[in-house]
Amino acid sequence: MEQYDVVIVGSGLGGLACGTILAKEGYKVCLIEKNKQIGGNLQTFVREGVVFDSGVHYVGGLDKGQNLYQLFKYLGIMDKLKLRKLDEDVFDAILFEGDPVVYKYAQGYENFIRVLTEQFPEEEAALRIYCDKIKDVCSRFPLYNLRKGDYFDKIEALEIDTKTFIESITSNKKLQNVLAGTSLLYAGEPDKTPLYVHALVLNSYIESSWRFVDGGSQIARYLSRQIVGSGGRIVNYTEVVKFVEEDDKIAYVESSTGEKFYGKLFISNLHPAKTLEMTESDRIKKAFRTRINSLENSISVFYVNVVLKPKTMKYVNHNYYYFAVEDTWSVLDYKLENWPMGFAFYYSASSEDTEYCDGVTVMTYMRFDEVAKWKDTFNTVANENDRGAEYEEFKKVKSEMLFDMVEAKFPGFKDSIQSYYTATPLTVRDYIGTDDGSLYGITKDYREPMRTFISPRTKISNLYLTGQNLNLHGVLGVTVNAVMTCSQILGIDYMLEKIKNA
Ligand SMILES: Cc1cc2nc3c(=O)[nH]c(=O)nc-3n(C[C@H](O)[C@H](O)[C@H](O)COP(=O)(O)OP(=O)(O)OC[C@H]3O[C@@H](n4cnc5c(N)ncnc54)[C@H](O)[C@@H]3O)c2cc1C
Repeated sequence: MEQYDVVIVGSGLGGLACGTILAKEGYKVCLIEKNKQIGGNLQTFVREGVVFDSGVHYVGGLDKGQNLYQLFKYLGIMDKLKLRKLDEDVFDAILFEGDPVVYKYAQGYENFIRVLTEQFPEEEAALRIYCDKIKDVCSRFPLYNLRKGDYFDKIEALEIDTKTFIESITSNKKLQNVLAGTSLLYAGEPDKTPLYVHALVLNSYIESSWRFVDGGSQIARYLSRQIVGSGGRIVNYTEVVKFVEEDDKIAYVESSTGEKFYGKLFISNLHPAKTLEMTESDRIKKAFRTRINSLENSISVFYVNVVLKPKTMKYVNHNYYYFAVEDTWSVLDYKLENWPMGFAFYYSASSEDTEYCDGVTVMTYMRFDEVAKWKDTFNTVANENDRGAEYEEFKKVKSEMLFDMVEAKFPGFKDSIQSYYTATPLTVRDYIGTDDGSLYGITKDYREPMRTFISPRTKISNLYLTGQNLNLHGVLGVTVNAVMTCSQILGIDYMLEKIKNA
């Protein structure tokens, strides 16, 4: 019987980053993944030669000296990544129906203020207050700044509502909506999303914004090489169904085919509710299970990956967020009659052509209940199944509705389409292993911040959690969370020293 030092379940970024950190520290790591392809949301797929990302379209914080840069250096992948910096004066552009102005988010705080002040000449003071507050909130999160601290550092920042804060700095409705214009990045909900979530995400992109050239799966590829290169093992096509306890500790995890993986320590990269479902231990109290199961998940998405006819659409080095309504917060609460209320438009960055684009992704919110009638179907490349003609028709109708909206803003778009491939909440669910295809996992709520904070420790002393449900989602959030998880094993002082000196 082989026993690993650490068994990690799930090869999302969280699992891969923990695996890399621990393998490089000499731990014998085994990483288990249910899918064919590792990476979870980092997975890419190729259609007609075009590479599409499933869950990473751009990241922030990758300029020298910034947080993700230093973390990726520590993980040993920074110098290997193929990246393209988005336009300095516009990484995200916010568009509204009936308004010809392109509202621009620029990189660098002074630049961000300068560009938006050109569009809102009366609002420089408000923009300065906005940026100072974002920076202040971020400074209260020690690990995000790669330093040591404790809960009390951030306590004051936890109970601020994003929407209320934005409304407090300006009465200009358009500016308010522009500042909330990228809330898809954190599934922002009015009167719920804490300002710290908005701040930690926005700050990272304002500092610097980057696309992965030829897809974000390169992160997973390079991390997995570090794990294997340090003597670790990665097992794919293997779904874990049980964490089995013996003498108050997890002794092994068991796969759906009965294979057992023994370890001294276990890290789960799965949604905490899923982890608990697979753990029968009475060390985990009923009250904790009830709390975790009662937490709401963020909404899901519908997205269409479009293969473009060659040389029909110019590559644009920034993203668009379009709204058919003035109130950018309202799109999350769409009704079937007015769906879609907006979309995000992401260009694929290819190494082969920087002038023309070969693929784009159009994304909009979709609730799981819209696809619930097909909830008993399952379809991934490793386990291919047909969800039926009605589902295909549903996707076609929805795609055409979305394309009509894109065409109205970008005339000629429809003529550029060569073919397209859709993803619904069921796709996200089946590839990631959640129940509802949630975009970013557990929803944070400024009214009860402690209820939505998940610790990397569990009541079982050798079982840890990692991944997007802990503190913050996204590539940066999950990487910071992996450091938090591993610091329980390696010690935070030791890790921070290593990160600093990487
Ligand atoms: C559509 C979309 C767009 C996004 N865009 C961006 C973006 O532009 N920038 C950004 O920074 N972030 C973005 N994100 C968020 C980001 O991708 C995620 O927060 C992050 O990748 C999640 O990492 P994770 O470690 O939590 O693992 P996940 O990606 O959730 O992966 C979990 C892994 O566990 C595996 N697994 C599940 N159950 C089992 C089991 N029983 N046994 C074995 N393995 C199992 C899954 O197959 C999966 O590989 C996006 C997310 C989505 C959905």
